[in-house]
Amino acid sequence: MPKAELHVHLEGTLEPEMKFVLAARNGVALPYKTADEMRDGYVYHDLPSFLRVFYEGRKVLIEEIDFYDLCYAYLQKAASQNVLYAEMFFDPQQHTERGIAFDTVIRGLTRARVDAERNLGIRSQLIMCFLREQSAQSAMDVLLSALAYKADIVGVGLDSDEKDNPPAKFADVFRRARQEGFRLTAHCDVDQENTHAHIRQALTDIGVDRIDHGVNVLEDPELVALARTQGITFTLCPFANEVVRPGRGQEPIRQMLDMGLKVTLNSDDPAYMKGFYISENLQLAQSAAGLTPVDLLSMSLNAFEAAWISPSEREGYLIALDRFARAWGE
Ligand SMILES: [Zn+2]
Repeated sequence: MPKAELHVHLEGTLEPEMKFVLAARNGVALPYKTADEMRDGYVYHDLPSFLRVFYEGRKVLIEEIDFYDLCYAYLQKAASQNVLYAEMFFDPQQHTERGIAFDTVIRGLTRARVDAERNLGIRSQLIMCFLREQSAQSAMDVLLSALAYKADIVGVGLDSDEKDNPPAKFADVFRRARQEGFRLTAHCDVDQENTHAHIRQALTDIGVDRIDHGVNVLEDPELVALARTQGITFTLCPFANEVVRPGRGQEPIRQMLDMGLKVTLNSDDPAYMKGFYISENLQLAQSAAGLTPVDLLSMSLNAFEAAWISPSEREGYLIALDRFARAWGE
């Protein structure tokens, strides 16, 4: 099925094998002997324990070529799963706080996007995320650094540790981002403290265009109505849900579809989630949430509809999806 992916963190696509290559290239010591041993070390049971493992990996990303290789490898994998278009998150603060220049990160990622489009035919754009446990001033500094690269970044988002870090903390930063022409999204992770207040702030204080995860919207009819009125699309990640809510991860997908909310399925941090890229996530959700072919097609349609692209580009993708749907129906 032709697909668009709207919720994938590039730092979360750093596979153990590539980590070893980059570590050797940059002279960085790793606390594992093999890629399999590293994978076995990826053990977590909630968002904070996941983030601890996740942030350990970034230290091998140092030179522009490292960011190039990271991004190109993801796009290669996505193209192999018939992703026609991807919007990819990156966290500049994960790197600038280690002394890596913002320019190094964005140049590597952008060169990879350009080459992947030329060589593989996959189109992509970048969404810059602010780390929510860092200060609003730090987020503003990153936003100002990004202004020189407006053409390479389509939107801004908010991710990482949600506890005591509500969207409202970044209202000024998002307001400035909107003034500068960026599209807006924010993570509202599954079952976090004060999740309903966070979803409400994302919708009203920030005025997001999309919400990443946000499945707890289901528990509040007022928020469901607000999301519907604002035409919000929720970028869900089936395997990530499973990590945070073992055994209950897939229920919200079916419920959100039945309530007429706009939902897309995505991979989040595939290298840290048993190699579940978008196709594996669709397969997981298909069996666990009882999705029909019509559900899958409608979610792929939602993703192309919610993508931050021009009407003419969208038209091309919708034609490809329609052609596939007709052939599937026969
Ligand atoms: Zn995410």
